[in-house]
Amino acid sequence: MSESLDLFKQYVAQTSEHPIGLEIERAEGPFLHTSDGKRFVDFISGIAVSSLGHRHPSVISAIREQLDRHLHVMVYGEFVQKAQWELARELVELLPDTLEQVYFVNSGTEANEGALKLAKKATGRSKLLAFHNSYHGDTHGSLSVTGRNVYRDPYLPLLPDVYFLDFNSTQSLSHIDSETAAVIMEPIQGEGGVIPADSQWLHQLRQRCNETGTLLIFDEIQSGFGRTGDMFAFQDYGVVPDILCLAKAMGGGMPIGAFVSSKAIFQHFKYDPPLNHVTTFGGHPVSAAAALANLRVLQQGNYLANARIIEKYTRSILQGNGIVEIRGRGAMLGLELVSRELTQAVVEDCFEQGILLGWTLHSNTLVRLAPPLIINQNLLVQTLETIKNSIQKMLKLLAK
Ligand code: PMP
Repeated sequence: MSESLDLFKQYVAQTSEHPIGLEIERAEGPFLHTSDGKRFVDFISGIAVSSLGHRHPSVISAIREQLDRHLHVMVYGEFVQKAQWELARELVELLPDTLEQVYFVNSGTEANEGALKLAKKATGRSKLLAFHNSYHGDTHGSLSVTGRNVYRDPYLPLLPDVYFLDFNSTQSLSHIDSETAAVIMEPIQGEGGVIPADSQWLHQLRQRCNETGTLLIFDEIQSGFGRTGDMFAFQDYGVVPDILCLAKAMGGGMPIGAFVSSKAIFQHFKYDPPLNHVTTFGGHPVSAAAALANLRVLQQGNYLANARIIEKYTRSILQGNGIVEIRGRGAMLGLELVSRELTQAVVEDCFEQGILLGWTLHSNTLVRLAPPLIINQNLLVQTLETIKNSIQKMLKLLAK
């Protein structure tokens, strides 16, 4: 064990018995470079964060410029900070008319916390509906609407009045009633195994929320900012949420999250009491500046089209024995393999060959594929071929 790995294990609280433990020296574009001189293709983009690759030059220079202006100046929401209002304006300009204001926070889970609180306050109701296999984050509120008992059970009791429905089930929609504050959902479930919502069902869900005065919250923390080939996954469905939650790729590698809604709904955050959701560092100016640069680059380049090209190549190259299916859209893909053993063997073998693949929290037969949208065709094809060959190689090895 190297000295720094040793110190990491000694002083940094561990999240599992076996962290990957890659010693990062630097990261650039689609590559991670380790302190022992190895190079990895980052095929998971820091879990759907570095969509423009690592250290995109526009993001870096926006950060530098903001560093020269100011860092933190006041708890969120009190001072006028250009980095924040410019970002909010450009984000809102991309969205449907009803998504007209942005509340900045620090992370994905905090965006969901804020959205759930806002929905309760705006409706005066407490009942929350979520879906089995969903993932919305690990703070208490978000965990309360996360649909996997293994993560919830150790922390019970969580929020009361939360119920879980089957994803893509028309029957489950009857549970949405006039006591429901909100339905929270991922249009494409990420950690649950990259499972897209059925389009017709999503329209029915929207309809049922309208009928019952229930707010619809889309958690696009993983699917947002171009990952699916649209700026946001809901745009392809043509279903608009009442509250949209964002984070991850938003900051181009800097920490920031947001929830976006209408002025009428946000109105309820201003009274009884004022300061309903205090967040000291929410929308940190350096993160906001990075996020604005990230958003502009995403809009100017061919990145959304690239996400679709990534899907096309992945579906055409990754075929054959051992593969059950490829799910998802654009560059938010899940490769379902026949067994847990094969999945683990392939991820490990690709790691040996310098490709970083991922897992999802709720599944052990799914390989997560979330390459950066800046990946060029050669590297993409080469990486996919390596994965394909690895699957065949590991299948043979496991059969012995
Ligand atoms: N929602 C979804 C759909 C996510 O994928 C994640 C992170 N994997 C979160 C919420 C939580 O985001 P964060 O880790 O920034 O709190």
